[in-house]
Amino acid sequence: MRIPDHPTLILRMLQHRLKKLSTASPILAASLATYRRPCGQPSCRCHRGGPLHAAQHVTFAEGGKTRTVYVPKSLLPEVRTWLAEHHRLKALLHEIHQLTVALLRARARFLKLKAGRR
Ligand SMILES: [Zn+2]
Repeated sequence: MRIPDHPTLILRMLQHRLKKLSTASPILAASLATYRRPCGQPSCRCHRGGPLHAAQHVTFAEGGKTRTVYVPKSLLPEVRTWLAEHHRLKALLHEIHQLTVALLRARARFLKLKAGRR
């Protein structure tokens, strides 16, 4: 992202991004992982040395600990959109932060110029 010097241009970029901050989607700050496990069927080949079944869970940090929540296959598409929404908002927040820093610098520069003219 190229950040302009002029505060008006910075503000315009900021407002454009601030509008995109709202969402109606659930947001999941986690990572999706695949793991292998035996199923609940005692007669299944997975209990007799056969290949295990792939399953998905999400992991995230909570209070300094890693938490894991199982994701049923049927919920995978929806969970992926929740994860994608978190990525989108995280990137957006980072850009908003960068633009706000630039705005602060531009305004401080402006005040310094104004003070110098007195
Ligand atoms: Zn099995």
